[in-house]
Amino acid sequence: MAKDILILGGGVIGLATAFECQNRGHQVTILEIATCGGQASGAAAGMLAPYSEMSEEPDDFFLLSHQSLKEYPEWQQEIKNKSSMDFEYVESGSLYTIFHEAERFPLQTRMEWQNQFGVEASIIEKSELKEMEPALSEEILAALYTPSESHLYSPDYVKALKQACLNTGVQIYEHLKHVEVIGWKNEVHLRSYEDKHFFADHLIICNGAWSKELENSFGIAIPVFPIRGQICSYRTESLIKSLVFSSQGYVVSKGNGSLVCGASEDIAGFNVDVTEKGIKRLERWSKKLLPVLETMETNHKWAGLRPATQDGFPLIGQLSNYNHVQFATGHYRNGILLSPITAKVVADQIDGLKERVPLRSFSPERFS
Ligand SMILES: Cc1cc2nc3c(=O)[nH]c(=O)nc-3n(C[C@H](O)[C@H](O)[C@H](O)COP(=O)(O)OP(=O)(O)OC[C@H]3O[C@@H](n4cnc5c(N)ncnc54)[C@H](O)[C@@H]3O)c2cc1C
Repeated sequence: MAKDILILGGGVIGLATAFECQNRGHQVTILEIATCGGQASGAAAGMLAPYSEMSEEPDDFFLLSHQSLKEYPEWQQEIKNKSSMDFEYVESGSLYTIFHEAERFPLQTRMEWQNQFGVEASIIEKSELKEMEPALSEEILAALYTPSESHLYSPDYVKALKQACLNTGVQIYEHLKHVEVIGWKNEVHLRSYEDKHFFADHLIICNGAWSKELENSFGIAIPVFPIRGQICSYRTESLIKSLVFSSQGYVVSKGNGSLVCGASEDIAGFNVDVTEKGIKRLERWSKKLLPVLETMETNHKWAGLRPATQDGFPLIGQLSNYNHVQFATGHYRNGILLSPITAKVVADQIDGLKERVPLRSFSPERFS
């Protein structure tokens, strides 16, 4: 049965979820206190790199990320079709580089468990690496090549998602003055400080790093907190074809002529200023990977707030006694990657469908 759904927060998670639900016949309204995609989502590097981002044993988070990457080719095409906008989705492959022999064993282990999950990955030695990516440093000993990792241009992706939402009939309210939850146990009732009232059958919480503010409203612990990510870019011709990672950061060439280097992690509350220390570290590492940058200056520096959780896993799912309230927040470093799968599993729950990936580890009530 079609439901009236309110989504709190118009970042990549709120937008993707709104699009999916509206597309399945529900009527969705997004409530956003600023601009859709204007926070973490618009600041992201846009890497779709679950294997390079995670070196640990495969767990439910790995399965979620792995499935999301698989959904991407079809998902991004659908967003492009519905929005008539492009966002530079590139199936570039990635190289996880090492500088020391001691890093070889962990690289080998990483490759083996990826292969076990059917992920193509192979170790490329220095001589071959030079042929693949001539701009990379001579100091790099080897790299793990994973052809399926991809990237997109996040600021354009969120614009396209917003347009796809509008074109499918989602209602979007932006620049609302604070939105508070008045009622949720029976009918969902939200109010903004301009005294606008919104009613619905169903509520989805997607307000990223700000989710903790809702603890009192729902009477559960929501340990989501902001981790600042600083990031910068050089204006240069395309120097690399693949996403290039090291243990200290990554570089990625964008179609718009920028080379993005990311990203720091620090705790600064809700402050999104960049610091000299944070950017200098990124510059140092990008120059170590790509010596040609040595004489260049970064021309753009920015920061965003990643929604981190206490155990590193997002909160995705329904409240056990109130199925009409769902959470989709706390995606930390991987919200762009996880946007298709989050949208789909949230919509599946609304439609009463079977879980396509295990969700038990992501229960929004697990901290209460
Ligand atoms: C520097 C950096 C680089 C990153 N790189 C990558 C990457 O390469 N790949 C990747 O997958 N991920 C990356 N990430 C992580 C990714 O950006 C986040 O996981 C993702 O954007 C989270 O999306 P979100 O929609 O939950 O949050 P947000 O984009 O922050 O959206 C939350 C929205 O909720 C709104 N809001 C807050 N409170 C309320 C309220 N009470 N009522 C209504 N609206 C409200 C906010 O204004 C905001 O627009 C990066 C993040 C940073 C900072």
